[in-house]
Amino acid sequence: MKIITQPADLPGFLKNFSAPRILVPTMGALHEGHLTLVRHARQLAGDSGCVILTLFVNPTQFDRPEDLKRYPRTLENDIHLCESHGVDVVFAPEPGSMYQPDHSVSVVESALSHPLCGATRPGHFDGVCTIVLKLFNLTQPDTAVFGKKDYQQLAVIRRMTRDLNVPVHIEGVETIREPNGLAMSSRNTRLTPKQHADAPRIRRALLAAHSAHENGETSAQTLLEIARQEIMATREGAEIDYLELLDADSLQAIDPVTAPAIIATAVFYDTVRLIDNMELTG
Ligand code: AMP
Repeated sequence: MKIITQPADLPGFLKNFSAPRILVPTMGALHEGHLTLVRHARQLAGDSGCVILTLFVNPTQFDRPEDLKRYPRTLENDIHLCESHGVDVVFAPEPGSMYQPDHSVSVVESALSHPLCGATRPGHFDGVCTIVLKLFNLTQPDTAVFGKKDYQQLAVIRRMTRDLNVPVHIEGVETIREPNGLAMSSRNTRLTPKQHADAPRIRRALLAAHSAHENGETSAQTLLEIARQEIMATREGAEIDYLELLDADSLQAIDPVTAPAIIATAVFYDTVRLIDNMELTG
C-alpha cells in the first residue's frame, strides 16, 4: 500500500494499476462503516483494479470552527486499517496542499442542499461538492463509494455528477450500525457513556415512524410526531436539530407519504451532532 500526501504525486502512481479505479472519500477516524465501503470498493476493483481511500478533514465543509477543531484524527490507526483491508493507495493531503490561499472557485448546489443538514449548516454541501469534485479530478475514478448514512450528501453528489457531466459512477452502501442500532460515526467517540447508551433512541424513533407507516399511517405530521416523542423521551438532554419527512428523490416535504420518502434527523448531545435516516416506501 502506498501513502501519498502531495496531489501532484497521484496521477503518476495511479498509472501503475489496471482498471477499474474505485474511490472511497473519507474524513478519517475510520470505523466499521468506512471499512464496509472499503470492502465494497475492493470487490468492485477485483484483484487487478485499484482502491483509493482519501483521508482529509475538509475545512470548507465545516460551518462551526469548534466542530472542525474537535473532529477526531487518528491517522496512524487509519493507515493500519487501510493496509489490512486491501486499500492500494491512501491519499492523505494537508489542507495547505488542497486549497490555494486565494482559491476562489467552488461548486454550488442550490436545491437538494436546502433542507436537512443544509438548513442549519450553511455552505456545508458546497464544501462537500467542491472537495469531492477535486478528489474526482485528482484520482479520476470509475466509481466512487458513499454511505447512505449521509443520505443527503449522497443525493447531492449524484446530482452534481449528473448536472456537471462528471464521468464517475456513484454507489451507495447501506448504513452500518452498532449492535444497539446506533449508526456508526466518527463522532460517536465524543459521546459520554450515558449519551452513548441513550443515542440508539434515534434509530428507535425512525423505526417507530417506519412501522407506523408500514401499518398504513400516511400523515407526515403524525409520523414525525411519533419519532419526535421517542427522541424527546431522552434523559440525557438530546436535542433535535431537525426531524423531517421528505420525498426520497427531490428532498421536498411530502404529505401524505404516498411515494418513496425518507425520514431523517439530526440530534445534538451537547456539541456532538448525530444524524440518521430511514427510507419509507410509497
Ligand atoms: P466521513 O468520514 O464521515 O465523511 O464518511 C466517509 C464515508 O463513509 C461517507 O460516504 C459516509 O456516508 C460513509 N459512512 C460513514 N459512516 C457510515 C456508516 N455508519 N455506514 C455506512 N457508511 C458510512
